[in-house]
Amino acid sequence: MATTHYRSCSLCEATCGVAIEVEGDQVVSIRGDDADPFSRGYICPKGTALADLHHDPDRLKRPVVRDGASWREIGWDDAFDLVIRRLRDVRAAFGPDAIAVYQGNPTAHNLGLMMHGQVFLRKLGTKNAFSATSVDQLPHMLAALLMFGDQLLMAVPDLDRTDHMLVLGGNPLVSNGSIMTAPDVKTRLKAIRARGGTLTVIDPRRTETAEIADRHLFIRPGTDAAFLLSFLNVLYAEGLVRPGRAARFTDGLEELGAIAAKYPP
Ligand code: SF4
Repeated sequence: MATTHYRSCSLCEATCGVAIEVEGDQVVSIRGDDADPFSRGYICPKGTALADLHHDPDRLKRPVVRDGASWREIGWDDAFDLVIRRLRDVRAAFGPDAIAVYQGNPTAHNLGLMMHGQVFLRKLGTKNAFSATSVDQLPHMLAALLMFGDQLLMAVPDLDRTDHMLVLGGNPLVSNGSIMTAPDVKTRLKAIRARGGTLTVIDPRRTETAEIADRHLFIRPGTDAAFLLSFLNVLYAEGLVRPGRAARFTDGLEELGAIAAKYPP
């Protein structure tokens, strides 16, 4: 008899709710969970492919070690001993930076890695630590750290209420609104227009998101900072900088205005 398990997709930060129908040890279907208050039944093609991933005959379920031209299965204790020994040897011979690490997106959905991964990385001492973050959004996180004191305190657009969405250099239709944790981002962007709002995309390329926008403004690559400074220049010049209740948490507004004054459009 089939049973249905409700989980969240672990492939990206959109964390869509999935309903997984299982018979015995076979996944027979994966669909969006209509009752999930966040994703409301939406999943992208990657979510539906989770079953293929699960049943892929090449999926590694046990540690294997190279043995000549083939691979040999070994136990977990032996695997950990081998990894510890080899990492220690490499560090001793070539220094900690000879080890490089890449962490994929599902790391953020794994409690063990969330709790111990960073400690392990710090202990390795390598500066060569890469991840979906480092190829994607580190400048965003650095700005959050400098502005709000923590790299993960990122401002999240209020997609479902805003009247004007400005997308600068992002392509949420392809990233699935990943870092915004916004499942079914296409419907939500279209809803802005349906309620009379506007969607503006600034990008050197006619992206998939630009295709559904009201306005697509091409920008010369490498000029984002100049654009943003002149954007601020206009806000200050037209008296539109009104922090309101946020004023008591904000400093540096005058200095920012003085800098922006040097960059008229
Ligand atoms: S957008 Fe796709 S990959 Fe990301 S959580 Fe949802 S189903 Fe998974």
